[in-house]
Amino acid sequence: MHMGHPEQLRMEQPNRAYEILKECKLCPRNCGVARIPKAGTPRAGYCRQTDQLKVAYVGPHMGEEPPITGKRGSGTVFLTGCSLRCSFCQNYQISHEGIGEPMDPKELANRISHMIHRFRVHNVNFVTPDHFFPHVFQTISLVRQKGLTLPVVMNLSGYQSIEMLKLAGEFTDIYLPDFKYAHSSLAKRLSACPDYPSTALAAIEEMLRQKGYLTTERKEGIGTTGVLVRHLILPGYVENSCEALTMLFVEFGKRLPLSIMSQYYPVRPQKDSSLNRTVTREEFDRILNHARDLGFEKLYVQFPENLRQDLETKPSFVPDFSSARPFE
Ligand code: SF4
Repeated sequence: MHMGHPEQLRMEQPNRAYEILKECKLCPRNCGVARIPKAGTPRAGYCRQTDQLKVAYVGPHMGEEPPITGKRGSGTVFLTGCSLRCSFCQNYQISHEGIGEPMDPKELANRISHMIHRFRVHNVNFVTPDHFFPHVFQTISLVRQKGLTLPVVMNLSGYQSIEMLKLAGEFTDIYLPDFKYAHSSLAKRLSACPDYPSTALAAIEEMLRQKGYLTTERKEGIGTTGVLVRHLILPGYVENSCEALTMLFVEFGKRLPLSIMSQYYPVRPQKDSSLNRTVTREEFDRILNHARDLGFEKLYVQFPENLRQDLETKPSFVPDFSSARPFE
């Protein structure tokens, strides 16, 4: 749990991060665009965001893993835009379509404080924050000034730069990174980043160097610090999933806490036909058995039959960010 920082350190790191926006290299896309221009209009890079922070949702969310959700929910902050923009994104309304409202860090800090007091959430969970890291660091500094002692979760795509993670460490208690792809060709086709496997492995290594494996407090089993890696199963890509788990095991060992997610839903039509369906029980079993055979000791799993398989009706766990309450 975070113990507080001297005032100077609080503001230095956000300022350093804001400098990077002048030729943006906040993520491994390294667009180099002037999101804070010397003069004229701010530019946007691959993430389609400028220097204006945009926020899609601030509120409790019950759909994370048990040590993150607990009984009262995780205090999520969904930011508009994404540096990865996967074709199948489950949150495409915010990552691709730009739903969200402009907000400054002070207003966001106020909303987070309100959420903490109203819902008594277990943590503050920034979802896909890396393209807004400077604003997020500043927001965390402001909330900490108000007395925040809850763990801060960085919920990340895995496609992060080491330099930015080094800055993020000061503002983070729990890293929740994805490890999506073992195959570069798949990463290229679905997320336009063939370097994803090596970049994400290096990023997770840095997260583990900073925080170690996820640890939980005894009373309610809520996560306090550390790393929990997630893998979303893509229908039709069992080999990619099995190899991704093997890579994680070889790199980080059996004690790495791992969440295997089978919630994939085709939220919009995909060119790749297998991505227009949900994950089958057989696919899920092959991947879960592989994880068990490897010997992972701490697995969080979502069984597909517990999730809706009817393609006609969008399941309730797929958020609708055009609504004021996306998760209801
Ligand atoms: S954060 Fe956005 S603009 Fe900056 S490097 Fe990444 S994709 Fe490009």
